[in-house]
Amino acid sequence: MPALPEYKTRVLLENHGVPLVPAAFHDLMPDILPEPAVFLKAQIPGATSRAGRGLVRRASTKEEISNGLKELLAEDNCQGVLAAEAVDIRKEYYAACLLDFGDEENLPGGVLLFSPEGGTGIEGRTESLLKIHFSLLNPPSALDIGYELPDVPHVYELADFLQRMISTFIGYKLTVLETNPIAVLPDGSHVAVDCRAEFEKHAVSKKNAHLFEVPESSADDSTPLEKMVEAINAADPAGTGFFRASRKKAPDGAITVATNLCGGGGKMLWEMTTGGRDDIFSLNESDTSGGLSGFKSYRILRVIMSQPEAQVLILTGSGMAFQNQFHLASAVWKALRESPAPLPCLLRFGGTDQEKAMNLMDTVAESLPVKVKTFRPEIFPNAMVEHLGEIATDHRIKQEFSPESGELAFEVETPPARFIYHPDRNPDGNEPAFVKECPTGFLQWSNGRITANPDAKCIGCLVCETLSLLEGNGELTIELDLPEEVR
Ligand code: SF4
Repeated sequence: MPALPEYKTRVLLENHGVPLVPAAFHDLMPDILPEPAVFLKAQIPGATSRAGRGLVRRASTKEEISNGLKELLAEDNCQGVLAAEAVDIRKEYYAACLLDFGDEENLPGGVLLFSPEGGTGIEGRTESLLKIHFSLLNPPSALDIGYELPDVPHVYELADFLQRMISTFIGYKLTVLETNPIAVLPDGSHVAVDCRAEFEKHAVSKKNAHLFEVPESSADDSTPLEKMVEAINAADPAGTGFFRASRKKAPDGAITVATNLCGGGGKMLWEMTTGGRDDIFSLNESDTSGGLSGFKSYRILRVIMSQPEAQVLILTGSGMAFQNQFHLASAVWKALRESPAPLPCLLRFGGTDQEKAMNLMDTVAESLPVKVKTFRPEIFPNAMVEHLGEIATDHRIKQEFSPESGELAFEVETPPARFIYHPDRNPDGNEPAFVKECPTGFLQWSNGRITANPDAKCIGCLVCETLSLLEGNGELTIELDLPEEVR
């Protein structure tokens, strides 16, 4: 797994409010030298034992700083030098967050390692480390952490520091985050003196690619389905829609799974579940998060489902989803109704309106052309995959779908959609009940027709169509265009 140099790890920590020892990064010889005393640290990705190799040195005079900077900047692969203030340290601690694959007593999640001693080699002296297991979906508060810590001075400040570390670890979907040492200063405050992070390249979201030095995949390398997702993102930019097809071949006999993993938590849990297993093969990586619309969820789902080798779809809401899960379930139901080759699904909803989402899928399950099983968010993907065998089929079923004719009520540009009204399904001409359920007031009823309120916005939630089909007479349907290649 690639590692981040310290100066980049500091940015991640800083973004989550972790206090750091003051430092300046120099990728060139600066015009104004830092004030002594400082520690000069060469920033070389992957370099270990920096102190022993002379890549970290204390500089107590301007001359030492100048010479040290020149020499370190000339090192091979050196991206720059971090000049960190030499602070008065009263006590040192060690802390790290790691992915934890679970054991007899603990579900998979994260583990916080802590030692009241810092310094070189502490991470290897496992017997002296306190381990605090934590959920990635429901991480502990500073208070929770404080109860677990040994009796040390300023324990609340320390617990707050560690809680922010966990928040950084989960927020950036890291695999390792270490601070060694955490220094306690004379006023009782805590700062990270040194830090490092490891990450999984494919877990880095596009918006964070610059922090992780992950080059965006070149257009030439992209598969047709990946290009389609890019096109969908371009037309409806709100929220992340990430899709990457596996470049590997499925092992013989493995169940081939198309995945729609929502948010970092869902993605991380799935990777922990399938890592090292050759009886389950993920055809793609995915991450849909950041409050994308139901329209966009539907379009991305259709791309994911169109992978010809797929036997099953696994969808996991993250458990702390920003995205409304009823909107997501509406997108799943629509995709299963309209796909020419729908997939049997294992669906785990977690977050806002998760009960409504599960109820919707349970209500429509009998009418679907494929088997669907729903799971509560406390069920981890490693329990979900036990159901793969019973639900996977070797041959995809085929179904025909063609949009039913009706009147074009109006079109929406962003997120793009056409709203079709079916007056024949509303012979009395009364206002259908779902109109009032539009969460933004965009959908209106006027002069016996469906209309759009120019002062409101459609958020593409699919609630109107879902309720029209579920509780009404199908008076309104929504057409969502797809790239032609999606089958
Ligand atoms: S019209 Fe209203 S209910 Fe329908 S998709 Fe748009 S925001 Fe949602």
